[in-house]
Amino acid sequence: MSITIPLIYSANVAPASTATSMAEKGSAIGAAVGSDILVVACIALGLLALSAFANVWVARRETRNAARLARSRAAGMHDLLRTMRMAESIAGIGVWQYDPKTGTQQWSDGLKRLFGIDPEEEFVEGDAETLLFANDIDLIGKVKERRAETDPYSLQFDIFGFDAVARSISVHACNLMDAQGDIHRVVAVVRDATEQVQRERELKSSREEAIHEAREARILAETDSLTGLANRRRVMAELDRMVIDARVTSMPLVLVMFDIDRFKRVNDTYGHPAGDEVLQQVARLAQSQARDNDLIGRVGGEEFVWIIPGGSDTMARMMSERLRQTISSSSGVGAVPNVTISVGYTSIQAGDTALSLFARADTALYDAKHSGRNQVRMAA
Ligand code: GH3
Ligand code: MG
Ligand code: MG
Repeated sequence: MSITIPLIYSANVAPASTATSMAEKGSAIGAAVGSDILVVACIALGLLALSAFANVWVARRETRNAARLARSRAAGMHDLLRTMRMAESIAGIGVWQYDPKTGTQQWSDGLKRLFGIDPEEEFVEGDAETLLFANDIDLIGKVKERRAETDPYSLQFDIFGFDAVARSISVHACNLMDAQGDIHRVVAVVRDATEQVQRERELKSSREEAIHEAREARILAETDSLTGLANRRRVMAELDRMVIDARVTSMPLVLVMFDIDRFKRVNDTYGHPAGDEVLQQVARLAQSQARDNDLIGRVGGEEFVWIIPGGSDTMARMMSERLRQTISSSSGVGAVPNVTISVGYTSIQAGDTALSLFARADTALYDAKHSGRNQVRMAA
């Protein structure tokens, strides 16, 4: 603060007309001048002191204000923290913060609670890593994988807390980027999603069970219980599908139909159960000769089909002949000697449907029967 000293010196000088000697005058003037200087000096000093006092007073007031502001800010922060803790506790959430540059983590009280730890307990350095490691959670690794993510993302983990409670936690994380576009912090809200995950798992498992049961029911409805082959219903459905496929792709398709010769005699001679075993054996032998995309089915009592997608006439004859020979040499079961089969086959033609193909193969089979059985015939 600058101080102005008023110019009062000249006003205090005595007039020249006073009847005193020059010496007296001189001393009087000297005394007057001396006392005036003293007054001025006193005033100046007073003003200086006042100014110094004002400076000190202002400085102290500023310090007091700053302290008051700091106290009020600290109280505000404290309040905010308390509110956050309360909100965390009510919502059952926690906050995890990670600084990728220093590798340091911050665990909120709510997060400690989620891991079954009393927030009042001391949480020393390394505890965070230990907890994540003990729960086999590579949270930092996962967060690093998403370092380029600019939108919030979610992770989910199953944990087993220190309080021996298993929980599913969901982590909603967000990368905070600096002006250069580098992550300077990852902030994540961690939530106890145990009930939700449990419900989802139950729902998923009952859905899978229902799908499984439906599939089982469908398989059962389309499978021949004695031989395990496709039943007539499935054969017709597949044949429909394959006929359409063959039409679209212009690929050949062969339908082979075979029937055990004089099977009634087998039943009559060796009994129905022995007959069943023969049926199973014939099914096994046929199945062993089928390729991956082929389909073997049982379409009647002792009548079977073999659908060969992509098969040519030559291939069909060869495969049918090989099957006929195999059955005639290996179909005997127990006391029942080998049986033989008659085979009729046909290839898809323009305008064919599953039924027309089926009918033609059946005619060829009938032909084989009437030509003496145990032989292969191609449809005309
Ligand atoms: P063909 O050479 O003309 O075919 O004579 P086949 O005796 O084989 O034909 P037929 O139609 O006269 O007799 C078929 C027999 O198949 C009659 C039936 O008892 C028997 N059969 C049908 N289904 C089963 C079955 O599931 N198990 C057993 N063991 N026999 C069956
Ligand atoms: Mg028969
Ligand atoms: Mg028959």
